[in-house]
Amino acid sequence: MGPSHNALMDRAQATAAAAARDLVVERPQGLYCPAGDFYIDPWQPVPRAVITHAHADHARRGHGHYLASAEGEGVLRARMGADIALQALSWGQAVEHRGVRISLHPAGHVLGSAQVRLEHRGEVWVVSGDYWLSGHQAEANLTCTPFEPVRCHCFITESTFGLPIYRWQPQAALYAEIDAWWAANATAGRASVLMGYAFGKAQRLLAGVDAGIGPIVVHGAVEPLNAAYRAAGVALPPTHRVTELPKEALRRALVVAPPSVLGSPWLRRFGEASDAFASGWMALRGARRRRGVDRGFVLSDHADWPGLQCAIAATGARRVIVTHGYEAVMVRWLQEQGYEAGAFRTEYGDEAIETEAGAAEEGIPFAE
Ligand SMILES: [Zn+2]
Ligand SMILES: [Zn+2]
Repeated sequence: MGPSHNALMDRAQATAAAAARDLVVERPQGLYCPAGDFYIDPWQPVPRAVITHAHADHARRGHGHYLASAEGEGVLRARMGADIALQALSWGQAVEHRGVRISLHPAGHVLGSAQVRLEHRGEVWVVSGDYWLSGHQAEANLTCTPFEPVRCHCFITESTFGLPIYRWQPQAALYAEIDAWWAANATAGRASVLMGYAFGKAQRLLAGVDAGIGPIVVHGAVEPLNAAYRAAGVALPPTHRVTELPKEALRRALVVAPPSVLGSPWLRRFGEASDAFASGWMALRGARRRRGVDRGFVLSDHADWPGLQCAIAATGARRVIVTHGYEAVMVRWLQEQGYEAGAFRTEYGDEAIETEAGAAEEGIPFAE
């Protein structure tokens, strides 16, 4: 005999009661906190939004009120408009909204990127947004406050690179590779065009390369973000616009530009150049060839597989909800480890529409 009707009813009610206690649920507009009546990184306009970071898939225009980190205020206003209704919180500073205590903690992804900690009646949930941390000891993103693990009962994690094949090498080794490529090109009298997303990746590249090799040119889409980073106190080497340098100097230059310049007239002014692409997707076999560039450098602003595991373990959470990336793989792995795991369907992962073709060819969700 199967379970009685009453037992089924009890279980349904228990599930509903548990769901009612959930601090974050899925709604058509985005991830929603029922107790506090606000959204986190919603993809449709809402009255109140907590924003983890200013990448386009997480921060959208049109919300009534924004809550975000003070570190990211400059870049968020630069992208959303200077006049948005924004309350900025310093790291760890808490505000209470309808009984929910909200605080922001560094995510190490891009300037200002935050994890959102929610506390309500003794229950603590953390929404990671996007995050980067290194599985290699004592490494930090040079361009923002490093990821800080936050203890919680439930951790909502991204999973952009949530497959065991993704393992980043130490940053020093990566920057040495880029420097060697640049130096060899400079010696041969050709520019080194290095493509990466204008917000986050470009600054990671600039902060790590050896600026003694030659002059650095940045595309017009990159410089306003550099300005926001510098204003926030991040050290970047001197950068020039292409028109500021004589043609001779361009032949030794490192050129940092968004991927959209590939095949554009803007690139032709550098004459013969070597081109490269910096992305976590470059870890995939064939990714560089499909892009049609000379070199691929594996640099990501997202945690790799060991980094994701490390971050999840550090929260002490028993329950984990996976958002964008390889949800199914990550959920299965978490369940095997004894976690209560599930997934939320989100509309994140479209930051760099300009480069999604490569990922689409791989049949993988694109997000970086
Ligand atoms: Zn992001
Ligand atoms: Zn994302």
